[in-house]
Formats: sequence, structure tokens, C-alpha cells
Amino acid sequence: MLVSNVFVLDGGPGDRFVIDCGHRLERRTLLAGLRNLGFSPRDLTGVLLTHHHSDHAGNAGFLRSEFGIPVFAHEADAAVLEGKTAAPAMVSRTGDPFARLFVAIENRTATRVIVDRALVGGETVGSLEVHHAPGHTRGSLLFRHAGTRSLLSGDALLAAVPPLTIVQKMCLPHPDYAVSLEQAVGSLRAFCRTGLPFEHLLAGHGRPIVGGARAQTEALLASHSRARDA
Ligand SMILES: [Zn+2]
Repeated sequence: MLVSNVFVLDGGPGDRFVIDCGHRLERRTLLAGLRNLGFSPRDLTGVLLTHHHSDHAGNAGFLRSEFGIPVFAHEADAAVLEGKTAAPAMVSRTGDPFARLFVAIENRTATRVIVDRALVGGETVGSLEVHHAPGHTRGSLLFRHAGTRSLLSGDALLAAVPPLTIVQKMCLPHPDYAVSLEQAVGSLRAFCRTGLPFEHLLAGHGRPIVGGARAQTEALLASHSRARDA
């Protein structure tokens, strides 16, 4: 996908998920990608959303209405997706012109979809553990796949520098898109403190980081603390 990553977990029937589903303008790319992997959308057990932003959740309504695929999201972001709670308007704090443009687009074209299963964190969905990591959005989720020691992080932890994501390296969320960067950092710290292992990072933006992802995450958090306290 051009804008945001979509990951497919194929753990067999009942454990076949897309994690995020891309912007609605990339619907054809999503369908072609599934086809290339040998799937029909009907084979999917569900759509797991890391958070409500339209470049991640944009095709959830289409997959649900067209193919009957249930949608899973954290309850806080489900309320936004269902229109019960207003999405917190994103504010461009850094003055970055690209971020300002993306923020204006997101504020105007928020995704709406019915969520079939609201998650809270602490449960499992198929072979994925669900961890609540608020900060980028109130309902941001991390999904950990213990079998492959992989962490799917959406925008709670990135693998490319936002907003243009041309430079590939592990990064914290962009403050312009986050409800609270410090809360996002606190959520990552709390997740690291659980001691749950992960070696690979599959983030919402940027190429997969294969190997050493946990050590990189801890180094990134430490350097953020040093910069903040300097
Ligand atoms: Zn986002």
C-alpha cells in the first residue's frame, strides 16, 4: 500500500486477519494484494484496527458491508468510528506544512464504520495478543504475535520518520497526529515493562524492522527521555 501498511495474518481458518486495511482510495490495491496472496476477502476472520485514523481504517466499512467481515477495534476508537464520540480534532503543533495538510484532510474525512467487537486490551484475538497503548489515539492498540515474536504497532511506534515517512528508521509518533505524545511514550514504556518479547516490528508506516526491535524500542525511549530532560 502506498500510504499505510496492511498486514495479513494467516494462522488458518478462524485466525486469518488483516491488521489495518488502508485508506479508502487504496481499495483496489488492498483487494489486489489479498488476491496475490491467494485470498478472497471472504476468507478473512476479521479486520483488526490498530486505531481509527482513515489511512488505517478506511476500507473497514467496505469489507464489512461487501463481504460481511467483522471489524475489531478498541472501544475508545470504536466510539469514534461509530460517530458516538467526536474524533479529537488534530492540531498541527509543529508548524510542519505536510503535517498541517494531512491533519486538515483527516479532520474532514474521518472514517465511519460499525465495530462488531470492541476490545479493551488484555484479550486475545485469534493468535494475537491485544495491548492497549493510548496516546497516538485514545484507543490505539498493539498486537503481539508470540509465535513469530512480532509486534504490530500501527502508529503507536513507527518504522519511518513521519509525516512523509521517506526515511526508514524506528520513530515515536508525530506530535501533530497524536492525542498526547507523552501518553504514547508512557504506553510504550508500560508495554516494554511487561517483558513480553518481540524481535520484529511491523509498524503502520515504514518497512518491517526484522530483528532487534525490542532493543531499538528501549533505546528510542531512553533517548526521548534524555532529550526531554536536557
Ligand atoms: Zn494514525
